[in-house]
Amino acid sequence: MVRGRGVRLIADDGKQYLDFAAGIAVNSLGHCHPHLVAALSRQVLELWHCSNTYHTPGLEQFASRLVQNTFADNIFMTNSGAEAVECGIKMIRRHHYANGTPRPRIITLSGSFHGRTIACISAGRNLKAIEGYEPLLDGFDQVPRGDLEALKNAITPLTGGILLETVQGEGGIRVYDPEYLRGVRAIAKEAGILLFLDEVQCGIGRTGKLFAFEHYGIEPDICSIAKGIGSGFPVGACLATAHAAKGMTQGTHGGTYGGNPLATAVGNAVLDIILQDGFMDNVRKMGDLLKSELGKVMNDFPHLIDEVRGIGLMLGIKMKLPTGDIVKRLRYNGLLTIAASNDNVIRFMPPLVITEEDIHEAISILRKTATN
Ligand code: PLP
Repeated sequence: MVRGRGVRLIADDGKQYLDFAAGIAVNSLGHCHPHLVAALSRQVLELWHCSNTYHTPGLEQFASRLVQNTFADNIFMTNSGAEAVECGIKMIRRHHYANGTPRPRIITLSGSFHGRTIACISAGRNLKAIEGYEPLLDGFDQVPRGDLEALKNAITPLTGGILLETVQGEGGIRVYDPEYLRGVRAIAKEAGILLFLDEVQCGIGRTGKLFAFEHYGIEPDICSIAKGIGSGFPVGACLATAHAAKGMTQGTHGGTYGGNPLATAVGNAVLDIILQDGFMDNVRKMGDLLKSELGKVMNDFPHLIDEVRGIGLMLGIKMKLPTGDIVKRLRYNGLLTIAASNDNVIRFMPPLVITEEDIHEAISILRKTATN
């Protein structure tokens, strides 16, 4: 690929692709959005990096906007999703350390994906991600997703928190029952432990709300974001309440690049757009349209597609044939999608700025591919 414009990627042979993978749910505003290009170009001429030893106006603005628009009191800036998750894991441990009663263990759910560092693969325990990397880090107890009893029974005096993706992405686009998520919130509160929601993939408008947890009327104590907040520039953050972050005092955690002026210029420009009135309404509208069109394709090709699932523009189709081959054929026909690593699911996660015409074009490519 040599160029990206809007919802399209262009290859070195000139071929254009409709991009419903968005760099794995990253390019929330498509490719080379003019507002982002202008913000980054302006910043390139001003200041690239000075480390977080100093305050910069872009960082102040970015952090305060995230605080104003979320449950969070504290923000730690990162360059990736895995670093944001790492920060949250460390925060859970430091919180209880600061309380004087170490509770270092964290409960995670089957089918999770939290990134590729040793702590993140130890938390997710996805077989493909851990192969050849053992021994894993101790301190994670995994329970079956969706089972409140199993979760409750797994809590011991050493448990300090629960970590889960509000909507599982890599695990096959799995949306939880609202009662389950509310139950998890209640269990964590009752046990005096922290709820850490990983919204690296499902956050920042992907599901039709700024955060996926808003659909369920719950708030976490800690939340990791990345991907869509940079729309292609590496930006991530760990958001937390002051209570959860009480152990993260100066010098206890850090990183050289997080919150760098280029990253916050882009992050602010993304927020300028996705916080506009009506932006999320359109994501929900486009998500409903795409889901219903995928449903029609499933009805017409029941021997190929088993199920359509997901929320907003985080959608997946569960296939009856191996996904790798179909993703390749869709690509050949001009539509980019991405397979999930579990459950034979192809993910449809286009830029949040797609139009009805883009959706109809994608569906006609899917139909053509299913027919041949
Ligand atoms: N958490 C979730 C839910 C993810 O989907 C991912 C990446 O796919 C990560 C964390 C890791 O993010 P990154 O690849 O930016 O480190």
